[in-house]
Amino acid sequence: MKKAYKYWDRAWSLVEGCTPCSPGCAHCWSAAIASRFQKASNFKTTEAGLYNDHVRFRLDRLILPDLAYRPSVWAIWTDLFHDEVHLDYITLAFRYMLENPRHIFLVLTKRANRAFDFLQSYAHKGIVPNAWIGVTVCNQAEADEKIPLLLQTPAAYRFLSVEPMLGPIDICSALWTINYKTGQFKPIDLVICGPENGPGKRPFDLAWAAKIEADCQAANVPFFFKGEGLSHDLPWEVRR
Ligand code: SF4
Repeated sequence: MKKAYKYWDRAWSLVEGCTPCSPGCAHCWSAAIASRFQKASNFKTTEAGLYNDHVRFRLDRLILPDLAYRPSVWAIWTDLFHDEVHLDYITLAFRYMLENPRHIFLVLTKRANRAFDFLQSYAHKGIVPNAWIGVTVCNQAEADEKIPLLLQTPAAYRFLSVEPMLGPIDICSALWTINYKTGQFKPIDLVICGPENGPGKRPFDLAWAAKIEADCQAANVPFFFKGEGLSHDLPWEVRR
């Protein structure tokens, strides 16, 4: 059986629905799952199996980490920084993260702009120490646009998800950027990388990911590859 390379323990599915906003969304696995179960959940996707802009925040799921028996690494689904998620709900989610210090929370977004704006304004309440803020990029244009925003986003930890990797991407300069405001030398704490999977998957060359792995090793940044053939380093202990 094919091994699933997973870097988190549990999904915190706070946001239902989304809007495709990147070439990386073309085969959105989350929408594919929603499409498969839409009869049971009354949650509709488009005929092409993509999200249809309908977004709802699941207040009822806020308490899930509270109920968890053991400390876990939680991945927030889908995109907490979607425009349709009210700022009050995002604030509430970060308050819950703060109140659950035994867990690690991964807040991964394609909307680097809104994450930056929100966390800039939230910074006066303090940095949530167990929240890892991540941005996804799938090509060089997205990397050039979104990584600088990630580097300036107030966060205890920042990670980069290069997935699905649709071409060679150079992130070397980001790995060596010094934040002159904080004097911080290691602005990215983890890089995750992976090919597209599933029906219609687009071409991928392991050499593209190997270059990022080598750059991470040179900068002493953990690199996690979602597949065979490269490293699976994580900066935390994941309990499976
Ligand atoms: S941002 Fe993520 S969840 Fe939303 S459509 Fe794109 S791939 Fe799917």
